[in-house]
Amino acid sequence: MKAFISVDMEGLPHIVSPEHMAPGRKLYDEARSIMTECVLAMVDQLHKSGVDRVIVADGHGPKVNLIPEKMPNYVSIVRGNPRSISMVAGGQGADLAIFLGYHAKPGTPYAIFDHVINGGVLHMVKLNGQETSEFYMNAATLGEQGVPVVLVAGDKALLDDDVSKFAPWAVRVPLKESLAHYASISPSMPECLENIRMGVREAVSRHSEGKMEPLKLKTPVNLEVYFTSTAYAQMACHLPDSEMLGGNGIRYRAKSTEEAYRVTQLLTFVAEGVRSSVM
Ligand SMILES: [Zn+2]
Repeated sequence: MKAFISVDMEGLPHIVSPEHMAPGRKLYDEARSIMTECVLAMVDQLHKSGVDRVIVADGHGPKVNLIPEKMPNYVSIVRGNPRSISMVAGGQGADLAIFLGYHAKPGTPYAIFDHVINGGVLHMVKLNGQETSEFYMNAATLGEQGVPVVLVAGDKALLDDDVSKFAPWAVRVPLKESLAHYASISPSMPECLENIRMGVREAVSRHSEGKMEPLKLKTPVNLEVYFTSTAYAQMACHLPDSEMLGGNGIRYRAKSTEEAYRVTQLLTFVAEGVRSSVM
């Protein structure tokens, strides 16, 4: 059995500050080791539960956060940036998927680091009219390939909102409860790691009983991307067959969820390019 883990940082326990978020920042090493410890507990429990191969996609920022030499020999790591289906690259062909360290979508009240993909340039993304979290977009992209998300561990605000709404079959493991955009309360690391292990045991057993489903969207997918600046939309709108929505948005009809994902990545990097060209 092959398992896929997509790991982000903002929904991991005790990670609360922009100083945690990027190489060179003061608390980055602490964040890397928290991520690595959580992944190690997860892959070890998956292995003990009968999984013989685990692919872990490092999904945050520059995507080189996990400490690779700590991983056991049954684990492969997807690292580096950019990737056309970013956080779920490498998930194709897995029997089951797990999302670890995930956070809520932009505009969620009292949710730590609420944003989608790149909060600096993206205000909001909609798929078929639904405001999307990274969870929703990633789960639907894997779902289109027939891969079910069986467990989501991260901010309780995301679990209570999108995960219970769109993947009610998935096991939910809260690793933090948000108090504000940059503040949360989390159990101790030993308790978080034990909760991750319990969640994995339950998810694998429910998966083997046939209780998990791939999340699928209707196609074609109506993609709407809203930027934080009109400057970004004015360059992004040169995408053929797209149309502008007001000053800040772009609409694009995608043949598949994966195409919607790839186009969102393209538009995000266009916006980043505009941003860096005027700074
Ligand atoms: Zn992240």
